Amino acid sequence: MFYRESWVQVDLDQIKENVQWLRSQTNRQFIAVIKANGYGAGDASVARAALAGGATMLAVSSLDEALSLRYQEITAPILILGVVDPAQAELLLQYDLTVPAVSLEWVKELIQVPIKGLKVHLKVDTGMHRIGTEKVAELQAMLSLLKANGADVEGIFTHFACSDNPDNQMTEDQAARFEAVVDALKTPFRWVHSCNSDAAVHYPKAPGNAVRCGLAMFGVTSYLTELKPCISLYSRLIYVKQLKAGQPIGYGATYTTQGEEWIGTLPIGYADGWIRRHQGRSCWIEGETGEFVGRICMDQAMIRLPHAFPVGTKVELIGPHIPLEQVAQELGTIPYEVLTLLSDRLAKVYIENGRIREVANPRLDRLMQEK
Ligand SMILES: *Cc1c(COP(=O)(O)O)cnc(C)c1O
Repeated sequence: MFYRESWVQVDLDQIKENVQWLRSQTNRQFIAVIKANGYGAGDASVARAALAGGATMLAVSSLDEALSLRYQEITAPILILGVVDPAQAELLLQYDLTVPAVSLEWVKELIQVPIKGLKVHLKVDTGMHRIGTEKVAELQAMLSLLKANGADVEGIFTHFACSDNPDNQMTEDQAARFEAVVDALKTPFRWVHSCNSDAAVHYPKAPGNAVRCGLAMFGVTSYLTELKPCISLYSRLIYVKQLKAGQPIGYGATYTTQGEEWIGTLPIGYADGWIRRHQGRSCWIEGETGEFVGRICMDQAMIRLPHAFPVGTKVELIGPHIPLEQVAQELGTIPYEVLTLLSDRLAKVYIENGRIREVANPRLDRLMQEK
C-alpha cells in the first residue's frame, strides 16, 4: 500500500536475467554484492533474485548488513567485505558468516577466542590501499595461525581500483600481483576472486574462479553490454496550479515564473535522497518534460509543467526515459551514489513474474509487524 506517492520500482525478473547473463559471460561462480541494502533496492529481495539467477554467494559490507539478511531467512553463504571486529567471532560462527582476514594483527586478535570452523577469505591489497596486505610472509603467517586454530580459509581475494577505465595499466598490474601472491602461498582455495562489475564485463583475463558483482546486476556498468536496467524512480503530482508571471517558487525564491506557468508539486525531497542539486534537471511526464524549479525541499519538490496535468499523474524521475547513468552524469557523480542516496522512506515496488509482487514501506513495515 502507498502512503505517499513516490516509489522505487525494482524489476526482480531483470535482476535475475542480468545475473544469468553475467554468469554465462564470465563463466565463473557469481558472488552477488548486495551491500548498502542491495544498493538501495532492498537487500533480501535483491539477494533472492540474484540467487534465483544462479549466484552462489552473497557479499555485504559489514556485520549488521549480513545479520539483516540472516534475519530475513537468507541461508546462502555470505561474505563480509569490510573489516569485522575480531571480538564478534562468536556471532560470525553462530550465523555462518564469512570474513576477510586483513592483517596478521587482526588474525592474532581473532584467535583469542574459539574460531573452529570460521570461514575466512584472505584479503590481498594489490594497489587499492584500503584494507588487506600484499606481503606474502604476512599472509603465510595469517594462513598458518588461522589453520592451526581450526578456521576454514576457503578463499582469497583482491579489489581493482581502476576497472572502470578500459585501458588502465593498473588493472593489469593488480591482476599480476594478485596471481603472484596466490601462487606464492601454494595453498588451494575454493574461492579466488578479483573482479567487480566493470572487471567482470571488461577484463576476462582477470584471475579467479568467481566474480563479485553489484551494480551490473542492476544493468549498469561503465561498458556497453546486454545488461538491462532494473531500477526506476517514480512520483505523482499531488498539486497542480497555474501562476502568473513573476511569481517566486520555493525556499529562497530562487526561481521566478517567466510567464503564465503550470507548476506541479511532487511528494519527494532531499530526505528521500532527491538532493537539492536536482534543481534545474528534467523529469518525464507522459512523453513530455518537466523541470525542477525552485529549491528541492525536504519532502516536496516543484516542477514546471508544459501545460496542465491532473493531480495523480505519474512522473518518471529515473527510468526508461531518464536512465540512471544520465542522472548521475548530470549531477556530476556516479550511479552508485544516486542509488544509495535513495532513502528507505521511499516505498519499493517489486516486480516479479511480470507482476507487482509486493509494495514495501521499509520503515513502516518493521513497526507494523511489531503491532
Ligand atoms: C562494492 C564492492 C564490489 C562490487 O562493486 P560493483 O562495482 O558494484 O560490482 C566488489 N568488491 C568489493 C570489495 C566491493 O567493495
